[in-house]
Amino acid sequence: IDLELIRNFSIVAHIDHGKSTLADRLIQMTGTVAERDMKAQMLDSMDIERERGITIKANSVRIEYPAKDGKRYILNLIDTPGHVDFAYEVSRSMRAVEGSLLVVDASQGVEAQTLANVYHALDAGHEIVPVLNKIDLPAAEPERVKQQIEDVIGLDASDAVMISAKSGIGIPEVLEAIVTRLPAPKGDRNAPLKAMLVDSWYDSYLGVVVMIRVIDGVVRKGDRIKMMQTNAVYGVDKLAVLKPQMVDIAELGPGEIGIWTGSIKQVRDTRVGDTITSEKKGCETPLPGFKPAQPVVFCGLFPVDANDFDDLRDAIEKLQLNDASFSSEMETSAALGFGFRCGFLGLLHLEVIRDRLEREYDLDLITTAPSVVFHLHMKDGEVRDLHNPADMPDLTLIDHIDEPRIKATILVPDEYLGDVLKLCQDRRGIQMDLSYAGPRAMVVYDLPLAEVVFDFYDRLKSVSKGYASFDYVISEYREDHLVKMSILVNDEPVDALSMMVHRDRADMRGRAMVEKLKDLIPRHMFKIPIQAAIGGRVIARETLSAMRKDVTAKCYGGDASRKKKLLEKQKAGKKRMRQFGKVEIPQEAFISALKMD
Ligand code: GDP
Ligand code: MG
Repeated sequence: IDLELIRNFSIVAHIDHGKSTLADRLIQMTGTVAERDMKAQMLDSMDIERERGITIKANSVRIEYPAKDGKRYILNLIDTPGHVDFAYEVSRSMRAVEGSLLVVDASQGVEAQTLANVYHALDAGHEIVPVLNKIDLPAAEPERVKQQIEDVIGLDASDAVMISAKSGIGIPEVLEAIVTRLPAPKGDRNAPLKAMLVDSWYDSYLGVVVMIRVIDGVVRKGDRIKMMQTNAVYGVDKLAVLKPQMVDIAELGPGEIGIWTGSIKQVRDTRVGDTITSEKKGCETPLPGFKPAQPVVFCGLFPVDANDFDDLRDAIEKLQLNDASFSSEMETSAALGFGFRCGFLGLLHLEVIRDRLEREYDLDLITTAPSVVFHLHMKDGEVRDLHNPADMPDLTLIDHIDEPRIKATILVPDEYLGDVLKLCQDRRGIQMDLSYAGPRAMVVYDLPLAEVVFDFYDRLKSVSKGYASFDYVISEYREDHLVKMSILVNDEPVDALSMMVHRDRADMRGRAMVEKLKDLIPRHMFKIPIQAAIGGRVIARETLSAMRKDVTAKCYGGDASRKKKLLEKQKAGKKRMRQFGKVEIPQEAFISALKMD
C-alpha cells in the first residue's frame, strides 16, 4: 500500500469523555462493521471493561475510508487504556502511531488524564487534532474549553472539531481531519524488516497473538522472524488485520498495523515494545525506549477454601498468558495457608485481576493488604526488595528503608480545593505546585505511593463530589521512618493484616484498624481482643464482646421459608470467612480494614 494512503492514530481522552463512543461511530460510519453486528463499545472486549466502562488492553481496528479527495485511505486506530495504572501501555502504543485525536468533553473541560495522555502523545511526537465532544449537551461550553486547551496544554484549538459522538454530529469532519491533518507514516519497504511489538494476548484457538506496527521492510506469511530482546525466532503462521475481526492478509508493509501468530507458548515471551526483525539479514539496531512494565503493588491472593489452591494456580497461569505485567509467586501464610503473592501495575489492575479470577474462574479469594515495594537497605550494605510486610527481617539488621514516591497531578474545582489539599497533606504529601487551569485548580503533589494505593482515589472522589481528576507517575525511592505494624486477633498475629506504616502515623492507623476490625469481625461465643502492635509494643486495642449468634431468633418461629432463607444466607456468608485460631474473619475485612475515612 502507498504510505500516503495510510493514517495511524489513537484517541486520547479522560475517562468518560467519549473515546469509545467516538471509536464506535468511526467504525460504524465507514461501514467497517455491518450494522447488524454493531454493538456498543466495539473495542472494549472484556466483560469487565464493558461493565466498568474502562478500556484495559489496547485494541486496534483497521478502517477503510473513501475521502473527499477521491482516494481510499486505510485508517488504523489503536485504542489505548485510559487509566493511570496502564500509563506504560499508553506510552508504548502511542509510539506505534503518528497522530492523536484529543477528545475533550465540552461540558467538562480538561481533566488530569486528558493532560497525562496528551503528554504521552506529545512525547511520541504526535500531530494532535483537538475534538470537542458532547456538544449536544446543554451544559457544553465549547468556546471556554477551546480556550482551556490553549491555556493549559498549549495546543491551538481554533480548528477543533465539534462533535457529538452519541448522535453522530461531526463524525464526517473527524474522518476528513484524520486524513488531512494527521501525517502519513514514513518507512522504507526495501530496508530489512523492523517492526514494533505493540501488544499481545492469548487466544484460546490461536495461541499467542502478537500485534505489530511495521516500520521498515515487509513481513509475509511463512517468514521466519526474530524478537530482538529475547532472540527467540518464530515462523509467521498467520498474518491478519483487525477489522476488528481478523481478516487474513498476505503481507504487511511499512506503516501497517496487523497481527501474527506463530506457535508462541506464552505472552511472557512477547515483550511489549520489543523490536521484531527477520531471522536472516535483520535490522541492526532495535527501536529505542524499551522497558518492561514493572509491577508496583503487591498483595497475597489465597483461596477461601484451601482445596481450591490448584484451581487458583491454574487460573493465575491462564490469566498470565494474557497479561505479562501481572506477576505471581507462591506464598505461604501462617494464617491463610497456601496462596500467591501477586504483583500489579496499580490498584485498578489488582481489582480487575481479582474480579476476573473470581468471576471467570469461579473462585472465592482472600486478598491481603496491598503493599508497595519497599527497598530495605541492610546494615551489611545489601539492598532487598520487600514485597510483603510479613517478610520484614529483624529491625536491628536494617539501616534504613526507602519507599516509592509519586508525582500526582490533581485537577479540581476551586470549591473543593481545601479538602483535596487536606487529604494530600494527611497522606504525607508535599505540595509542589498550585496553578489554575481556567476555573479549576491544578495541584501537583509529591506523595508516598503507599498512601495512595488503598483508597486515595475513592477518598479524592468523595471529597470532591466526583469532580477531581487524578493522575500520577512514579518519581523516586526515598527514605522515611517506616515500621511494620502487626495485627493480633485473639492474641494470634494475623500476618495477612500486617502492614508497613509511617512511624508518626502508626498510632492513628493502628487505632483505625482495630476499630474497623471490631465492626468487621462477627461476634463469637467468647470475647476477642483485637490489637495493633509495633515490635512487641501494643499501640491500640479493642475488645469484641461475646454474643450468641442466632440470626433466626427474630423470626418468631412461624415463617419457615424466611428462616430457611436466613440460614442459607448465613451459610453463604460463612463460605467467605476464614478461620484464625478460634476466630472467623470475613474476607472483606482484609481490604476494608485498610480503608481510612
Ligand atoms: P470513554 O470512557 O472515553 O470511552 O467514554 P465513553 O465513550 O464510554 O462515553 C462515556 C459516556 O458518555 C457514555 O455514557 C456515553 O454514552 C456518553 N457520551 C459519549 N459521547 C457523547 C455525546 O456526544 N453526547 C452525550 N450526551 N453523551 C455522550
Ligand atoms: Mg472507553
